[in-house]
Amino acid sequence: IVFILNIPTSLKDSVISSATNVMDKIPWQSESKDIPDSLVDPSSVMTVEEIKDKLTFTGKSEFTWDQIMEQNYAQLSEIMNIKIDEPKVDNLRRGAENPDEYQRANATLMILSRNQDASSIILTIKQIEKHFNSKFHYPYVFLNDKEFSQRFIDRIKKHISSEAFFETIDPADWNQPDFIDKEKQIAGMQKMADENVAYAKKMSYHNMCRYYSKGFYNHPRMRQFKWYWRFEPGTQYYCDIDYDVFKFMEENNKTYGFTIGLYDIHQSVETLWPKTLEFVEMHPEFVNPNGAFSWLVNDLQNPGKAKYAHGYSTCHFWSNFEIGNMDFFRGEAYSQWIQFLDKTGGFYYERWGDAPVHSIGLSLFENRDKIHWFRDIGYTHSPYTNCPNSDKCSGCEVGKLNDDLKSENCLTNWWNLEMDQSARDMY
Ligand code: GDP
Ligand code: MN
Repeated sequence: IVFILNIPTSLKDSVISSATNVMDKIPWQSESKDIPDSLVDPSSVMTVEEIKDKLTFTGKSEFTWDQIMEQNYAQLSEIMNIKIDEPKVDNLRRGAENPDEYQRANATLMILSRNQDASSIILTIKQIEKHFNSKFHYPYVFLNDKEFSQRFIDRIKKHISSEAFFETIDPADWNQPDFIDKEKQIAGMQKMADENVAYAKKMSYHNMCRYYSKGFYNHPRMRQFKWYWRFEPGTQYYCDIDYDVFKFMEENNKTYGFTIGLYDIHQSVETLWPKTLEFVEMHPEFVNPNGAFSWLVNDLQNPGKAKYAHGYSTCHFWSNFEIGNMDFFRGEAYSQWIQFLDKTGGFYYERWGDAPVHSIGLSLFENRDKIHWFRDIGYTHSPYTNCPNSDKCSGCEVGKLNDDLKSENCLTNWWNLEMDQSARDMY
């Protein structure tokens, strides 16, 4: 097949060595601009021209986007049906009989929520405790823009096996900044509302997205910690996690872990990409030569979205579950970029989500080998699910992603374009 000649060595090898049905179905046939891993010197600095070249997608496919979607979905189903267990590393930590004796990582389970979310938070915490935290006893941090009620605190505390902190966010970090042009904001929100963009006019939602993009890791309580696991009210966890996921991240040199990859609502991120490119042009030194560039720009399945978003595929890690190292967000590259983004007002004139923001930041400024798909964490945030085929899981349907959501699947792009063979073989 001719197109195989055009793809990078790292991918070519994997296509040939695991010539399964899954790999035969890879629908992209473009000339990929990725540098094979072996040629990347992680300490090298790319020129602006090199970066722009990598961040411009010019590929073509002989398939229609409908066919590509079907193929991607078939591939996703195949991947999800592969029987898995725990990550195949030899350093998983099991906890200790006596919790006081266990050396935890510097980590916390964290959630941003309102007082009225208590019941749905308890639903989720029960599952996190049962499957994970009853073995490790990591502390929780609850963040709120209003003060938590005593009733909220009392109810929650009944369900957790560890320390918990209930914190109020400084209004200066939560509220929209004064420099936002109100007229421009109203016009922007109306434009999105006219196109049925969810939460277009909900002020608190814009604040929330901005806070999760640039605030949470600098909250004084959060600054105590290095690692966080973000969870949300009403989300479901299906699988026993019998090893310490934070230690797993730390000891296997990972920065960020996710479960679900999706396309975004393009109207919400109309200028996020061009603004980012402006920043990158000023600071090419921040771009990681082994970044996850391809999945940010490959538009074969959803060209309309990428066109609207000026070249950003809109693919992102769904951030309502994430496990991450906050040193990355606190670091120079992400910090300077997020401050630049904030000044553009895009969190209010548009509705930039923390998911695409985290995802672009990580994909540009971090080595993609440090981004981990937690295939073994069965998870639902309505309407999407990651349901592994594993004996450790129960209560979800293996491989299910509702049919009407097929076009939203971006996980196969991550698999095909950014995961090397060792990452695919991790489970
Ligand atoms: P969606 O998942 O995009 O539909 O957004 P959610 O409504 O689930 O909000 C994302 C997270 O932020 C959840 O953990 C919410 O509890 C939290 N959240 C959203 N808006 C607010 C708010 O105004 N105040 C507080 N304290 N938390 C919020
Ligand atoms: Mn949610």
